[in-house]
Formats: sequence, structure tokens, C-alpha cells
Amino acid sequence: MNEWLFYLVVLMLPIAAYSGYRLGKRGKRTSRKSKSHLSRDYFVGLNYLLNEQPDKAIDTFVQMLEVDSETVETHLALGNLFRKRGEVDKAIRLHQNLIARPSLLPQLRKLALFELGMDYMSAGLFDRAESIFKELKPEPQHKAASLRQLMIIYQQTRDWTNAVSTAEQLQAVDHQDHAKEIAHFYCERAEQQLDLQDYKQAAASLKRALQIDSACVRASMLKADMAFQQGTPKQAIKAYREVIRQNPAYVPEIIAPAERTFQSLRDEKGFKQFLERSLEHSHSASAVLAYAELVEKHDGEKAAAEFIAKQLQKHPSLKGLLKLIAMHIEHAQESAKPSLQMLYDIVDKSYQSKPSFLCQTCGFSGKSLYWQCPSCKNWDTVQPLTGLGGE
Ligand SMILES: [Zn+2]
Repeated sequence: MNEWLFYLVVLMLPIAAYSGYRLGKRGKRTSRKSKSHLSRDYFVGLNYLLNEQPDKAIDTFVQMLEVDSETVETHLALGNLFRKRGEVDKAIRLHQNLIARPSLLPQLRKLALFELGMDYMSAGLFDRAESIFKELKPEPQHKAASLRQLMIIYQQTRDWTNAVSTAEQLQAVDHQDHAKEIAHFYCERAEQQLDLQDYKQAAASLKRALQIDSACVRASMLKADMAFQQGTPKQAIKAYREVIRQNPAYVPEIIAPAERTFQSLRDEKGFKQFLERSLEHSHSASAVLAYAELVEKHDGEKAAAEFIAKQLQKHPSLKGLLKLIAMHIEHAQESAKPSLQMLYDIVDKSYQSKPSFLCQTCGFSGKSLYWQCPSCKNWDTVQPLTGLGGE
């Protein structure tokens, strides 16, 4: 018998005893036969369990449970057990059965309704779960938990308008700061509006995101993308500069698009200044390499290699080292090239095996930037990695 079945047997014990007690009392007036009959159900169920027939055992136990104020908690515990085991259909049946009882006290009915909502969440039946949590939302006892579930539903269904209003209501109840999430919901909305080329609404959503969280890097990056698409590159550059101020950790993400924007303006000097400013606030290898390219263009490869080497001494990075080795391969004697190439391959392999992004909350790591961590589902916690293997 596995652990959960053992738990089930223990859970049912008081019910078996209680049924016996009740029937015993009734039996004084009626018959002693029914007492022994009902008590036997428990042993029938137990027998199924011992014979490795858990489904039959469960059915027997559920049949045994008369719904009244004494057994509701056992019903709820059993329902949760089913859900945790992934047997959501059984949990739904049990909770529905509970709710259908007209004699159930209103507070207990709400408790069972909440659990049914959780069953629907597990089953991915978000429309049904939504209507339950909406019903429970006005109840002080269930308000915060229902709003939290509704927020999950609206994120899953990408209904960002409702996600925003739900998060705002939750903020007033749980007194926690949900500004970061709300700003991302506005960014998601802005992305949807950008897809529809509704630039006016997208701009309004991004403005709102930045009003709520002035450090929202994503909103600034989207603002820059949108400005570039609309043919206003100077506005885009302004937004990229904003990213450096908001969070220098994201500098690696803006070097390539900023370069493209400055190129469209044929403003190399402006790009050089932009990189210098980036390097004042971050040690990003991407910024170092972009700056080295400009040095190479004007002062030659030797000066560029010296610049990279100097930066590497201060802030070692595999990405910078790879560029330096590549430059040496180009100018090395033929006899030295194979060993330099081998060195390049080894460093490259090590660099490729290292993650570029890390979630500060759960430790999820990968090569791509996610605004919402795919593992812990928190917003804004996955950040570009710095140091040897990162930027
Ligand atoms: Zn995470």
C-alpha cells in the first residue's frame, strides 16, 4: 500500500467510527443489523486496498461518506487528495456532490466551491474556474485567494486588460506591491496593439507601464522598437538611453538595436558616445566588442586588440576572449594557427555551454531572455548574467 492510500485509510477511520456510533444510537430504536452493515463498508474498502484495487476502495469510501457538517472536512480533504494525485475528475465529482447538498452551511459551500475552482484550474478548464472565482471574489474570506487565481487565469488566457484590473484589486487586498507585474501586463497589451499596428494605443499602454513602474526596462525597449518602426530614430535612441539609466544589466540587449538605429541616422559619433555611456554603467562584453569595432575601424586592429585585452584584464569574459583569439588567429603565423584554432574551439564550447540568463528567484537558467520566468512564473526575475560566462 503506498503512502497516499495509507493516508486515505487513516482519513476514513473517524468516519467509520462515527457512522458506527450514529447507527449504534439509531440502532437502539431500529435495528442492530444496519450498524454492522455500514461498518463493514470500511472493511470492504480496506480489503480492496490490500488487494491493490484502489479505485474500488475509493468508490466504497466515497459512498460511505454521508454529507453533513461532521463529514464535510473529510470530503474536502479527500477531494484535495484526489487533485494532488492528478485524479481531477474524481475531485470534481466529489466537490460537485458536496455543493449540490441543499443542507450544506453557506460557509462550507463556499469552501467547497473554492476547491472546485482549484479542480477546474488543474484540469485547465479556465472558463469554469473563472466564473467560480468571480462568484467568490466579494467574499472577504476568499477574496485574495480568488483574485490570485483570476490573475493566473487572465495571464494564461492572455487577457491583459482583466489581468491589470485584477492585479490592481489584489494590490488593495493583500497590500503587496504588484507594480512590476502590472507594468508587464501593460507591455503585453502594447505588444498585442503593436501587432495590430495600433501605435496610438500601444504608446498609451507603454506610457501607463512606465507610470506604474518607472524602472520597467521592457517598456523602454518596446518604446524604442516602436519609434524605430515609425521612422523616428531619435526617439528610439532616447528610449535606449533610458534603459541604461533604468537597469544597466540589460545593456547587452540594446547594443545591436541601438547600433542599427544610429546607422540609420549615419551617426557613428553618437553611437560611440552611446557605447562610452554604456561602459560607464556596465561591463557588458557586447558593448566592449561594439566599441572595439569602432576602434578597429579608425585606429586599426592592434589598437582594437589592445582595448579588448585591457577590458578583459578588468572584467574577464569568455565572449571577449573569443574575439581576441579570433583576431590573433587572423594574424598568426601559419604554424601557430591550428593550436590557436583549438584554443578558440575549447573556449567557444565552454562559452556555449554556459547560460546567458538566470532567474533571481528560482535559479532557472537559459540562453534566452524571458520577461516571465517559465519556471516560477515571476515577472522580471530573469536577468542577463554577468561575469566570465555571461556578459
Ligand atoms: Zn524563476
